[in-house]
Amino acid sequence: MYEKLDKSLINKIKNDEIIPKPLLICSGGTSSRCANDSQWTLDLRKNYRNIIYDKENKFVDIGGGTLMSSILSGLLDYGRTFPIGLSGLTGTGYILTGGISPISRSRGLAIDQIIRLKGYWGNGDAFELNLPTQFSSSEDKLKWKGLLGAAPFLGIVTEIRINSIQNKKLMCWQEDLDPDQLAEIIYEAENWPNSSSFHWVLSDTIRGFIVIELDGKSDSIAIESVNNVLKKNIFSKISIVKGLIDLPQIEVPTFKLERSKRRIHSEVLGVLGPPWRQGSYGLIQTLVKLIKKRPNPHCYIAAQQLGGVTSLQSKGSSSFIHRDAVWKPWITGSWEAGNKNMKDKSIDWIEEVWEELEKYCPGIHLAQMHDHLPWHKREIEAAFGEWLPGLQELKRELDPKGLLPPL
Ligand SMILES: Cc1cc2nc3c(=O)[nH]c(=O)nc-3n(C[C@H](O)[C@H](O)[C@H](O)COP(=O)(O)OP(=O)(O)OC[C@H]3O[C@@H](n4cnc5c(N)ncnc54)[C@H](O)[C@@H]3O)c2cc1C
Repeated sequence: MYEKLDKSLINKIKNDEIIPKPLLICSGGTSSRCANDSQWTLDLRKNYRNIIYDKENKFVDIGGGTLMSSILSGLLDYGRTFPIGLSGLTGTGYILTGGISPISRSRGLAIDQIIRLKGYWGNGDAFELNLPTQFSSSEDKLKWKGLLGAAPFLGIVTEIRINSIQNKKLMCWQEDLDPDQLAEIIYEAENWPNSSSFHWVLSDTIRGFIVIELDGKSDSIAIESVNNVLKKNIFSKISIVKGLIDLPQIEVPTFKLERSKRRIHSEVLGVLGPPWRQGSYGLIQTLVKLIKKRPNPHCYIAAQQLGGVTSLQSKGSSSFIHRDAVWKPWITGSWEAGNKNMKDKSIDWIEEVWEELEKYCPGIHLAQMHDHLPWHKREIEAAFGEWLPGLQELKRELDPKGLLPPL
């Protein structure tokens, strides 16, 4: 379906002539590691954006540089969809690193929809792997496990075959909350049906965001529990959209944003953890104190809810090992481009918030690469746990010269 990677590039990879390493890969171009001064970037956005839908089997072949919004547009006419995340702007980095969607609690992670992967290992050899069956070799099963959730460390993925799922309308609600209301809704949300998910952003104020897949049976349970917490009827603030394609953006509620003449750069660290239960009250108080210490107004803390069917896949089936996770908070540290002092402060602040969140969320969702930051070793240990030595062994075999980010 796609042009192969340029022969001269493959030769350079095979002859270990890409210097300095790692080779950066750009798909959606939404992370800090899609390009960097004095490093090579392989930009997949021009030649790897095809989307081909197979009507009979209901699967889609997409190129390694495809945007999530394009998948939804390509599937809309067929009444199908795909569990993209909170933004359509991300590329296949979203899928390959796990992919937590507002509908993951009922439909699974993005990696749970993958049925075939094509590309090149870090050693330059081409690969094509299908969802393993009982007849697959143990070697192929291991490579598949490595690719699902840790592909960026092992290879360049040029084509992904994914299952599409039936599109359903979504009910959405968004409103400002106080810290006690936030903690209480978090507590309640842990018992909501899988069709509902709760997300929130903490900045100058707190914004809560609920997404409910309309399936008729359990539609109103989340709404009723929020009505009880807020002691008012929230129905007037609800919108119904035709699917993820029209999902409103969750806004960062910030008062003090001055228009900066420079670009804002940021790093994001995502953590993963089990239900917080009563612990949500203490944790939110701590996070409110930490947000007041943030080095600049563009920094924020947010979270999305997972759990539900995402926990049904076995821990050993992919490199996304934190299958018991119910919350994924993420910490965004930001600074004006070129402001090294502010950058250092923001990175320190991320670590400070991580220190507190780690007590509730010991895992890491490695959605962004941080091999340029001092905490990379710590984060890969928290991301892959007991599976890390196996993954490192795979990397030694498939990317022996370290073309791709280090593990
Ligand atoms: C606005 C926004 C909303 C988000 N919402 C969610 C969310 O709801 N759920 C969630 O799980 N995550 C979410 N994320 C995180 C996002 O999934 C990760 O940042 C992801 O890495 C972005 O991938 P990309 O292709 O857009 O970025 P890029 O910067 O292009 O790629 C990121 C990294 O992924 C690797 N990579 C990308 N493509 C390939 C490929 N084809 N082969 C091999 N390696 C590759 C590379 O290492 C690259 O450095 C969000 C990010 C943003 C910016």
